[in-house]
Amino acid sequence: MTLALYNTLTRRVEPFAPLAPPRVTLYTCGPTVWNFAHIGNFRTFLFEDLLRRHLEHSGYDVFHIMNLTDVDDRTIKAAAAAGKQLDQHTAPYVLAFFEDRDYLRIKPAHVYPRATESVPAMVRLVERLLERGVAYKGEDGSIYFAIAKFPTYGRLSRLDTRELKTGARVASDEYAKDDPRDFALWKKAEPLDEQVGAAWDAPFGRGRPGWHLECSAMSLEQIGRCCRAETLDIHAGGVDLIFPHHEDEIAQPEAATGRAFARHWLHGEFLNVRGTKMSKRFGNFLTVRDLREQGVDAAAVRLLFWQTHYRKALDFTDEALAAAGAGVKRLGEFYERLGEEEKGEREGPLADLATKFEADVRAALDDDLNAPRACGALFEFVRDGHGALDAGAGGAAPARAALERAMGILDILPSSKAVDAELARWVDERLAARDKARKAKDFKEADRIRAELLARDVEIEDTPSGTRWRRA
Ligand code: AMP
Ligand code: ZN
Repeated sequence: MTLALYNTLTRRVEPFAPLAPPRVTLYTCGPTVWNFAHIGNFRTFLFEDLLRRHLEHSGYDVFHIMNLTDVDDRTIKAAAAAGKQLDQHTAPYVLAFFEDRDYLRIKPAHVYPRATESVPAMVRLVERLLERGVAYKGEDGSIYFAIAKFPTYGRLSRLDTRELKTGARVASDEYAKDDPRDFALWKKAEPLDEQVGAAWDAPFGRGRPGWHLECSAMSLEQIGRCCRAETLDIHAGGVDLIFPHHEDEIAQPEAATGRAFARHWLHGEFLNVRGTKMSKRFGNFLTVRDLREQGVDAAAVRLLFWQTHYRKALDFTDEALAAAGAGVKRLGEFYERLGEEEKGEREGPLADLATKFEADVRAALDDDLNAPRACGALFEFVRDGHGALDAGAGGAAPARAALERAMGILDILPSSKAVDAELARWVDERLAARDKARKAKDFKEADRIRAELLARDVEIEDTPSGTRWRRA
């Protein structure tokens, strides 16, 4: 069986074939670094990690690009609110994103182009669109994309273009456009943009790029540089990006070059909380650092996410996370036992179970990344493997090797430094006591508690947002 993936463009599961095998160019929309990313954002990044790893495991040579959105409405607003320059404001969130990525064992992309460092490519793309008459300057001085000049607009999201028109011309800035459906490629510099250092000179006027323009220009620039390509093999993101972000991402380069922008579009469903999308806006979010500080093993988060197909919504609950934690622990125990009971034979019932297990995992992931089915095969292997070991069966070494290969994709063996929940509770209680002592100016007691924590390998650090801790 060969790899088949659902393509949002055709609404079908299709065989996957890159333009120039074994090379696969993959672009995934990255975080907007105005604040810490939440675990909903990371559900999308983890689904993309699974995709990347399975492609690599299948022999493809993946070139993975993930952008960092470091200039847009949100970053500008947040920088101004913090009284900072844009780059000063985003820098710590970029670092935090990389830390969170590493904690969750997400493979780093090959490049992380930053919007603020890719402005010349964006300016070039706007110039091409102006030359072709697909873009125009609005009455407000911003540059807009003329949707009427791009007849296939709406192909990805399948929105009826007439529907797009209804209810239009409500926001005042829409009067600046020829057609209310048109979107901004380049926004004229406003005083707030100048204040935070988010304005650039361009032949068509000083301003800043629109978010959709950023991704199109960065992906074209990067695939040109790495692979002399003009069309992406795969473009991925969360379902909320289908419209308008990805629709506009397609329109800009296709109207400029006449070539297909991306062949395969993959979209991951939401992480929800009681049926509502996890979002900063709704206040129902949890950051990766929250999990880390609670001592949650990243393997448990990964398993929790793998247990639901990426095209299905997943409701986050503490109970489900705890159950996933128990699952990775069971997996770790089986892996250890295989190591202990290995007697050097290459064959035996365990080796046969391992062959079946590996074939099942491959077939499941080849079928539109069916990770829940792959996890089913994994835990069946754990159960039957224990049974075989109880009966004194041979073949532990190849079984262990097969498990390690599968972990190259799923990567859910427990961390050796994983903290158990009991320790996390104890640390929280000690930190609260230390806080109380400090407030009462009893620094001797506060130091004693710090030493007590250190005796159990817990290091603490006081930060403006509270005390952080980790295993030494
Ligand atoms: P942003 O940082 O807002 O640009 O979003 C980064 C990525 O997270 C995008 O691909 C979004 O589609 C995705 N995303 C945002 N919220 C969620 C959620 N609750 N569940 C899954 N993905 C999400
Ligand atoms: Zn994007």
